[in-house]
Formats: sequence, structure tokens, C-alpha cells
Amino acid sequence: MSTRAQQFQAEVVRREQLSSHFVRIVLGGDGLVGFASTGVPDEWVALTVPGQFQTRYYTVRSWRDGQLTLDVVVHEHGLVTEWASTDCVGDTVTISEPKASFKMPDTAGWLLLVGDLTALPAIARITETVTDLPVTAWVEAPHGEIDGYVVGDVTWVEPPPGAETATASVVEAIEWPDGEGYFWMAGESAQMRAIRKHLMREVKLPSTAYDVMGYWRSGQPRQPRAVDRAIDPGPIWRAGKAAGKSDDQIWADYDAAREAQQ
Ligand SMILES: Cc1cc2nc3c(=O)[nH]c(=O)nc-3n(C[C@H](O)[C@H](O)[C@H](O)COP(=O)(O)OP(=O)(O)OC[C@H]3O[C@@H](n4cnc5c(N)ncnc54)[C@H](O)[C@@H]3O)c2cc1C
Repeated sequence: MSTRAQQFQAEVVRREQLSSHFVRIVLGGDGLVGFASTGVPDEWVALTVPGQFQTRYYTVRSWRDGQLTLDVVVHEHGLVTEWASTDCVGDTVTISEPKASFKMPDTAGWLLLVGDLTALPAIARITETVTDLPVTAWVEAPHGEIDGYVVGDVTWVEPPPGAETATASVVEAIEWPDGEGYFWMAGESAQMRAIRKHLMREVKLPSTAYDVMGYWRSGQPRQPRAVDRAIDPGPIWRAGKAAGKSDDQIWADYDAAREAQQ
């Protein structure tokens, strides 16, 4: 039996600027027939944009009436950032089947959520889904609140001057509710490592009571590399992945294919 994740070709049917640094991309088309949500509110897909091999992960903000919505943070430079900054309506992208992580114990009496802008789509979807418990959220947004994006008890915070992100300090200031509950958090990886230590050593939460995920890494320039559209990268990418090759090894195969054609 194949263990390779199923993939779907989807068309960008709408692009909407939600704020200066946040863009909504709505995908549709026949290629999404067969896509099935996990139903878990922090589910994500791997996205491959045109002319690229490499994937980036994005939360499924919604999957409704055959349309899949992804909300993308547009930061200084990056492979998806640069693509999402353009008028990409009509482009064909590849997405994987969804995976998810949120696993709140049945015994939880409260839910706390913390994240930066990359976690905001998941935080919004979790708050819409969990309606039978008190839910409190903190969202770090360097450019201010995004009106109406998330409902309920939400505190918007800005990182301290000069800091790219400081979600760890948001968590360190939390007054933890009594009793059993669940803590979900996502954001920059170094901040998440600090938080895991804090939860284990200071708060002493059992590991089943929290989920803390690094969604991106600060200060690691990853130059987008465009592929030559004359050579279809798809088969090379899929064969490389099936053979367990790294991205660098797949790029080498791609370069060899280009040289062979010249
Ligand atoms: C499970 C999961 C779900 C995610 N869901 C979302 C989502 O719904 N929306 C969303 O926008 N992101 C989400 N992310 C984060 C997203 O995948 C990363 O931010 C990704 O690196 C962005 O890709 P890029 O091509 O724009 O930049 P890259 O090419 O990956 O990176 C280029 C440079 O930008 C920096 N960088 C990357 N992300 C950021 C950032 N957010 N802010 C500042 N600098 C950054 C890197 O350090 C690097 O130097 C999710 C990640 C995971 C693991």
C-alpha cells in the first residue's frame, strides 16, 4: 500500500488583502474533488506554488462548498510570500491532504490559545469550533488587530520594539486557570522551545495538556529558487520524494535534467 500523501491540483479562484501583511487565497476547481477535511481545527496542508519544488505549510482556514481557504502572512521575503504578493488568481497550485495536531482531552475545563500571525487562522478556527468551554486567546500582531477575524475573548499584543516576535513573554505572563485544561500555541520555533521548557518546569503541565508547534524559523534566509517552466518539475519532485531524497538532492536531479536538455 502506498504511504505517500495524496496531492491535489487546485486553482486560485480569489485573492483578498485582509490586512497590510495578511492575504486570503481561496482555492477551488475540479482538482479538489476527493479532498476531505480531518475536521480537526488546526489542520494544515503543504502548498507548492507554481514554478517551485519546495512546499510550505498553511492552515486550512475553511473548507466549504468545494473551496479551500488559506490565509497567508506576507513577510519580508519568501517563496510563498513573493507568490502571494502577486495577482495569483488563475494560478494552479498543489496541496497535500491535510494533517492536524490539536488534541484536547475530554476532561479539559478551559482552553488557552497563543500565537503570532501565522497561528491566527488556526486560532480563529479553534475558537469557532470549541464552543462548550471558556476559551481565551492572545495573538501577537506587529501591525495591529485584524478587525473581525477572530471572535471571543482575544487579546491582541504587539512585540516589544525591535523584537520580531516575543510570544514566549506573553505565555510567561499568563495567570493559569485552576483545574484541568488545554493549551495550544504556535509561532516562531525558538519561542516555542522556550515555552515548552516553561510549561514543563514552571507551569508543570502534563504533556497531554498542551500542544506547542514551531511554525517558522527566524533568521534563516531561504532563497526562493525558480524552476525553468520548460521542464515539468512535478515528475522529478515526486520521484525524488518517493525515493526519500532531500530537497537539495532533488534540485541536483532537476539541474541534471536541464543540462541533459541543453
Ligand atoms: C502546521 C503549520 C501551519 C502553518 N499555517 C500557516 C498559516 O495558516 N499562515 C501562514 O502565514 N503561515 C503558516 N505557517 C507558517 C509558514 O509555513 C512559514 O512562515 C513559511 O516559512 C512561510 O513561507 P515563505 O515561503 O513565505 O517563506 P520562506 O521561504 O519559508 O522563508 C524566507 C525567510 O522568511 C523568514 N520567515 C518565514 N516565515 C516568516 C514569518 N511568518 N514572519 C517573518 N519571517 C518569516 C524565514 O526565516 C526566512 O528567512 C504554518 C506552518 C506550519 C508548520
